[in-house]
Amino acid sequence: MLKCNVCGCDLILMEVMTHTIGNNFSPITKNTYHCSNEVCQKDTDEKTAKRIKLKKEQEDAQAIRKQESLAKTLESKKVLTVM
Ligand SMILES: [Zn+2]
Repeated sequence: MLKCNVCGCDLILMEVMTHTIGNNFSPITKNTYHCSNEVCQKDTDEKTAKRIKLKKEQEDAQAIRKQESLAKTLESKKVLTVM
């Protein structure tokens, strides 16, 4: 039995997902564990949700930056063409 690395309680196997990528014949198995300590699991869930939110925000900001720099590149090209 695996132990939670936060509180040391037993981990419960919730889900086993197996998937293969492309022509790779060795499938990747992803096990999802939940802590048997309800308080700890709730905390983990909250942290995971926050991390996903933060990641999304970063990706959005990155996408905006990319668009801005593309607009700037186009702008400078326009200037060059005019000259
Ligand atoms: Zn725990």
